[in-house]
Amino acid sequence: MGSASLSILTPSKPTPVSSTEEDPPNPSTALLSFNTDSSTPPHKPTTTILFISLLVITCIALSASIAFAFLFFSSSSSSSSSPLSLQIESTARPLTKLDRPVVLLISSDGFRFGYQFKTPTPNIGRLIANGTEAETGLIPVFPTLTFPNHYSIVTGLYPAYHGIINNYFADPITGETFTMQSHEPKWWLGEPLWETVANHGLKASTYFWPGSEVKKGSWNCPLNYCRYYNSSVPFEERVDTVLHYFDLPSSEIPVFMTLYFEDPDHQGHQVGPDDPEITEAVARIDRMIGRLIQGLEKRGVFEDVTIIMVGDHGMVGTCDKKLIFLEDLAPWIEIPESWVQSYSPLLSIRPPAGFSHSDVVAKMMEGLRSGKVDSGKNLRVFLKEELPDRLHYVASDRISPIIGLVEEGFKVEQKKSKRKECGGAHGYDNAFFSMRTIFIGHGPQFARGHKVPSFENVQIYNLVTSILDIQGAPNNGTVSFPKSVLLSSP
Ligand SMILES: [Zn+2]
Repeated sequence: MGSASLSILTPSKPTPVSSTEEDPPNPSTALLSFNTDSSTPPHKPTTTILFISLLVITCIALSASIAFAFLFFSSSSSSSSSPLSLQIESTARPLTKLDRPVVLLISSDGFRFGYQFKTPTPNIGRLIANGTEAETGLIPVFPTLTFPNHYSIVTGLYPAYHGIINNYFADPITGETFTMQSHEPKWWLGEPLWETVANHGLKASTYFWPGSEVKKGSWNCPLNYCRYYNSSVPFEERVDTVLHYFDLPSSEIPVFMTLYFEDPDHQGHQVGPDDPEITEAVARIDRMIGRLIQGLEKRGVFEDVTIIMVGDHGMVGTCDKKLIFLEDLAPWIEIPESWVQSYSPLLSIRPPAGFSHSDVVAKMMEGLRSGKVDSGKNLRVFLKEELPDRLHYVASDRISPIIGLVEEGFKVEQKKSKRKECGGAHGYDNAFFSMRTIFIGHGPQFARGHKVPSFENVQIYNLVTSILDIQGAPNNGTVSFPKSVLLSSP
């Protein structure tokens, strides 16, 4: 995991390839070749050789300075060609058509940070160019799974506190099982944004979001404002429904709206992050953003609406050579299937009463470190209390007492099978750069062409309540965070 922390410290920022700078003279190569030449055995010095040498040195120096000048001017001219980046804004822009701020929160599931460079994305690019972007992506919460992350985004809480600690889990006290179809309020702790908004007597709407169908507090998932999840609804229909909210009388327009797309997560699982199918899925999401922007512009509200576009997590390629089998640990300890709550990438184990948890961890680690278990060194098992603090994955009975962290791209399975599959996965340590997703904020309170350092998605709740100017519920986000990202009130 050391490499993961390193990648956090020195993220490699993908930069689009410039088509205008074809093979500029490379000063470092020129200097290197000069040094190489000078290391050859010296000839008898004559004035002619001296003269030629001086000429060569002068030429090299000149070409080097030309190269530097070329690079300098081309980079400075490219930044001056986008006047917006030079424009310094300090105060929020006033609303021109809407009576009050409206936040539209969009999630593109599994939109790994960097996908925006796979293909031209003019519409997402427009939001970025005229808005504020997390420069090296949005950091998901651990585990980097869909339900825990979507619910962290709207509650500002880590999964241990909002209760959705995995996509599937069992409550150890009641024995009941949570699935992605469980809408009973007892599972969903914390106060999601639609509930906060409703508590203030304001209208919210949800076009799909994990937890949005759960009736809690003042939120009763009202007809026409709250859509029950149905993955077959075309993306265009979702966008158009959101647009129609802006045709309502001013007092009826929801001040907070969600919009959800399953892509490109859907494709990412099947083919991994580096397949042309992902490129096409990203292009399609961009077209949906274009449809949305056009619709808002037609209604004259595009500049008034705050659009926050995020993903829930990234994606990494997995292949069957990167597997760890629990059955291989049998010489040290038998881990029956019935102990395992989830395998991969989050290994979660709850042994029955009577077993010492620390004994199970010690025996598993002994096996994994023995060198006799295939890929054993790529799985580390912890008592949940001993997980790194930065994962915030301990303070809930729903979290199993034993948690395994696997290296990027690895998977844990019970036993060897003939199943051969290469695809993609997420759910890993949120320190992996591959798990990062996007954050773009566009609207009156976001500076144009602004980049902010990466941050965790639990900060978004306070950001939204701050934009809406309503009091939010206590959460794990930093109270001062919105001030560091948003423009001050006029
Ligand atoms: Zn997801």
